[in-house]
Amino acid sequence: MSSSDNIMTKGQIALRSVNGVPSNGAYVNDMNLGTSSSQVEILGNEGTIYKKGPRKERILLAVSMALLVGCIVVLVLFLTGVVNPAPLGQSSPVTEKDVCLDPECVRTAANLLNGMDQTIDPCDDFFEYACGAWNRKNIIPEDKSSYNTFGKLRDELQVLLKALLEKPDMPNQPNSVTKTRNLYRSCMNESLIELRGAKPVFDFLETLGGWPVLTSNWSESSFDWIELVAKLRLYNNKLLIDEWVSSDDKNSSVNIIQLDQVDLGMPSRDYFLKGRDEKVEAYENFAVSLAILMGANETVAREEMREMVEFETKLANSTTPPEDRRDNEKLYNRFTIRELYTNITDKIDWLKFLNILFQSVNITLTEDEELVVYAPEYFGKLVDVLHETSNRTIANYLVWRIMMNRVGNLPKRFQSLNQAYSKVLYGTDTDQARWRKCVSYATDNMGMAVGRLFVEEHFNSESKESALAMIANIRDAFNELLMENDWMDTETRKVAREKAAAMEEKIGFPAYILNNTALDDEYTTIDYQADKYFENVLANIRHIAHQNFKKLREPVDKTSWSTYPPVVNAFYSATKNQIMFPAGILQPPFYSKTFPKSLNYGGIGMVIGHEITHGFDDRGRQFDKDGNLVQWWDQTVVDNFKKKTLCIIQQYGNYTVKEVNMNLNGIQTQGENIADNGGLKQAFRAYRKWVAKQGKEESKLPGISLNHNQLFFLNFAQMWCGTDRHQRLFQKVLAGAHSINRFRVIGTLSNSEDFSNAYNCKPGSKMNPVNKCAVW
Ligand SMILES: [Zn+2]
Repeated sequence: MSSSDNIMTKGQIALRSVNGVPSNGAYVNDMNLGTSSSQVEILGNEGTIYKKGPRKERILLAVSMALLVGCIVVLVLFLTGVVNPAPLGQSSPVTEKDVCLDPECVRTAANLLNGMDQTIDPCDDFFEYACGAWNRKNIIPEDKSSYNTFGKLRDELQVLLKALLEKPDMPNQPNSVTKTRNLYRSCMNESLIELRGAKPVFDFLETLGGWPVLTSNWSESSFDWIELVAKLRLYNNKLLIDEWVSSDDKNSSVNIIQLDQVDLGMPSRDYFLKGRDEKVEAYENFAVSLAILMGANETVAREEMREMVEFETKLANSTTPPEDRRDNEKLYNRFTIRELYTNITDKIDWLKFLNILFQSVNITLTEDEELVVYAPEYFGKLVDVLHETSNRTIANYLVWRIMMNRVGNLPKRFQSLNQAYSKVLYGTDTDQARWRKCVSYATDNMGMAVGRLFVEEHFNSESKESALAMIANIRDAFNELLMENDWMDTETRKVAREKAAAMEEKIGFPAYILNNTALDDEYTTIDYQADKYFENVLANIRHIAHQNFKKLREPVDKTSWSTYPPVVNAFYSATKNQIMFPAGILQPPFYSKTFPKSLNYGGIGMVIGHEITHGFDDRGRQFDKDGNLVQWWDQTVVDNFKKKTLCIIQQYGNYTVKEVNMNLNGIQTQGENIADNGGLKQAFRAYRKWVAKQGKEESKLPGISLNHNQLFFLNFAQMWCGTDRHQRLFQKVLAGAHSINRFRVIGTLSNSEDFSNAYNCKPGSKMNPVNKCAVW
């Protein structure tokens, strides 16, 4: 759950989006709910019935059972006359005989029906109508805080990856694959991890100067916080000062050092600022129990960890909330290192700090080096807080933060400490299976090598062609809507069109991973030993940090991939003006070559539209077609845009999440809501244009009395089926960039005329309110 030293996890990308940092080298916006791939379950759709058999047979059995069930459903529905040939909505009538009875259609229909609750009026609550049964059948596994379509697909993906990682080595396999399997094996070798005990971590602590809480003879006077912060940054832990190298927002072809306020030990600043409650106590107890397990005196541990949490609460207070960080122009401050001393604070030895980092990759900085600072006021507050805090507390805190991420890499008695904390924070009852953790770990760190294994066996290149064609159609739809909107002037429209046209697309996986030499080249500077898991972990986090520092003197590679093929997500990068759809998301229910186009457009089509629209949401619009932060809109147009978005902000801000009795944060989620609304509209328009080109509607699906316009919206909604534990809802509402699933469906559809037409929802019904919001 806490992976702050591991930049490439999905959670990390989502976290970045939450904090509102414009560009950190990762993608700014992501499609999903920030559910990290590390939260996974044990049983998939097949349930417990087929648990005993060998896996291959089980899958076959499940498939044939699904077909059988589907056929029976169809037969029963036909016999009972439930199959209703009279379509609702606006599409042209389809005759009863025009029903697809291929096994694939039967299976698709059965899957859709399985998720629905048809006792609900679709015009009253479409989320319940589309997902009611799914949500009841798919209870949240014990080791997870939420479960949804994305999570389920990730679970299934992990099963495939496990098999690939556990295959015996072949003599001619790429070196990077050998490395990946070694990493996976070192993670899976639990008996050896137990046998090695805490020795590796004590050795590591020594290199950091020890953890004060464990000893009475820690030297307060010789401590220099900036040195320890720099040392930890070399292990990719960004504490007190967030620092990274990424493309310059105002000159996106050049890399530059960037500085910002930091993330904290709990998922967001609000946890600390709400006042001391059971969650903060659980966090503090986590630290206390770890200190005691490592030999601290209990009284000392209680006292010092309490001081540490008080210190972190002050840090939280020094940071700016994410909803106040959406104006990139305001956030952007460019200084030389020399100017940091005069314009920000001279209480931080900036040059010393940065040179410790960059000398690790043989770069020496001078005071003339330029950098971008996103939170100048934070650093002023930081030095005040540090001034009133003892060195011992500061050091306790810094070491705690890296240790909290390390407990998962240690023997079971360490791992179990995390459990009590997770129970309070996320409501999870058990730890996830070891193999799932290790599959995630190998994928997060050797993603392209794992991706190579995955696409070789499981990716159909046809889906790439199909996605490209859909992107072209949806881009056209975006352009049409752009021309029709009434709040932009002709000139801005023209430039917006250019931006949409310049948007680069990445689909599936980068071609080079199929070339052994090119793939191996990517991993020449890292190697693993199958019997040294803890050391491998340290090597990984150092490697991630080095790779980032090295970019400083390298040109920006706008064509590079910033995510891995086996990832169930989609991305937009504002500084690259690039959309990305990894192989992991080009699968059902988002996409299938055997789906009717209505489902593909309602699924991956809407996802494509969502990512395109990010280029024009409240933050994306601040960047031009080359990914540079520049005001390319007329002020009148900006004012019009703000009026339009205010409607969205208020609409979503009025949704109450009953389980936690909180309203959504309309400001914090506006970018994602704008993208959802625009994406859905574009995808529907693109679908209708596709149908018009065919000259006829698609064949109906068996056993479902819905026409294809209706199916389009049904599949859209079913992408968001899922439930969350209260603890998770609380976190999402408090700090998430995305609205919660229910309102991603209800908010978007209640703004959609197309939806109301398709389902004949009366004006004024819950799903068809009279007042609607639209930006794009
Ligand atoms: Zn998004």
